[in-house]
Amino acid sequence: MKPDELHFLVVEDDDFQRETLADMLLSMGAKSVRQAGDGKQALEILQAQSAPAVDIVLSDLEMPEMDGMEYFRHMGSHYADISLIIMSALDSALIASVEEMARAYGIRLLGAIEKPVTRSRLQTLIAQHEAVWPKQERVAPSGPASFTLEDILDGLRKNQFEPFYQPKVNIASGQIKGVEALARWIHPEHGVIGPYAFIAVLERNGKLDDLTFTILKKAASACRQLHESGHKLSMAVNISLTSLTDTALANRITQVMHEAAVDPRYFILEVTETAAMTDVAHALENLARLRMRGFGLSIDDYGTGYSSMQQISRIAFSELKIDQTFVRSFSDNESLRIIVQSSIDLAHKLRIKCTAEGVETERDWSALKAMRCDLAQGYFIAKPMNLESLLEFCGSFGIS
Ligand code: C2E
Ligand code: CA
Ligand code: CA
Repeated sequence: MKPDELHFLVVEDDDFQRETLADMLLSMGAKSVRQAGDGKQALEILQAQSAPAVDIVLSDLEMPEMDGMEYFRHMGSHYADISLIIMSALDSALIASVEEMARAYGIRLLGAIEKPVTRSRLQTLIAQHEAVWPKQERVAPSGPASFTLEDILDGLRKNQFEPFYQPKVNIASGQIKGVEALARWIHPEHGVIGPYAFIAVLERNGKLDDLTFTILKKAASACRQLHESGHKLSMAVNISLTSLTDTALANRITQVMHEAAVDPRYFILEVTETAAMTDVAHALENLARLRMRGFGLSIDDYGTGYSSMQQISRIAFSELKIDQTFVRSFSDNESLRIIVQSSIDLAHKLRIKCTAEGVETERDWSALKAMRCDLAQGYFIAKPMNLESLLEFCGSFGIS
């Protein structure tokens, strides 16, 4: 969408900067530009707004009366459908933390501009307005369907759950090394449903293993099919630490591999800890046994919540997966670059592989390559897909 279809509001206490920016927007073809000297005035304008409504707000951070942070909080709770561009002369780490805050308040953030504002940067961010928030999404905010435990167990009994597979690619060679199996519910009415709709419910009710074994069995059989088609890939499956309290688990998992005639060396268990572990001894027993039998063990979501250094020190992991919250757009953020590089170095010092998940752009891919990260997974390479698509994908894929 070009600026000539858009209505702007500039929130800036410096008269000269505000006027200059308003002129710049008008010269770019803005349909209207309103002006406010601080957050309070901005809210008054938005409250009084009749059509035409404001599409994009450009706001400074430091202002008298009501500063940017407070103003964003109000914007998030009352005007979440208006896009925001932050402008500031402050330190980039501080701006990045305000961006994070704005997103946490539910704001449609297009990005931040370091002052002085340039025309080209402004154009880039305005172009995001349509790209990031397509129109349809704004008019129909239908929440995701929610399911009861009974619905989910019924779906499991009816065999409606399938793994989708997302490739993990060796960054240096550009070759697919493995895939991660991610649970999907192929719902007869609601279509393909992601794990957030059912994992937590199953876990809370102690029923997660029903899903774990469904996925494990299907993933093991897919792994064999891939190998038979000449693709010697590894297969990763997610295991919650809460499942590992049952000491019979390692044997049950091994049995699945045995039945599918798959060598455990091709299997990786990605361990996520979603709650504090109470039964550490049993989990450690299972994990040690699995590792001894040749399974790979991966510390998933590294850096978040409970997936921490303590985990690394007590489990014999073979892979570290840097959580996607650190990887997405990390190359533009100095603190994230340092976190990602340190995680890669940590993995290498432990002599284990490092995988970055959530790689969405070529820019991040190249940065990871320069940092010598081993493997990448993310939309830049491919989204999770069913087995049929995966087999096709394996035959055609290559990144240089
Ligand atoms: P995870 O293990 O961290 O899996 C990665 C998630 O990130 C997947 O979401 C994947 O679709 C998504 N993803 C991958 N690349 C990108 C990217 O470039 N950008 C963005 N924005 N997202 C990306 P999904 O499939 O929704 O799974 C969510 C979580 O649910 C998984 O996070 C995993 O913790 C859990 N999960 C999935 N399947 C199972 C399962 O069979 N058992 C258990 N216990 N947990 C599972
Ligand atoms: Ca995972
Ligand atoms: Ca993750």
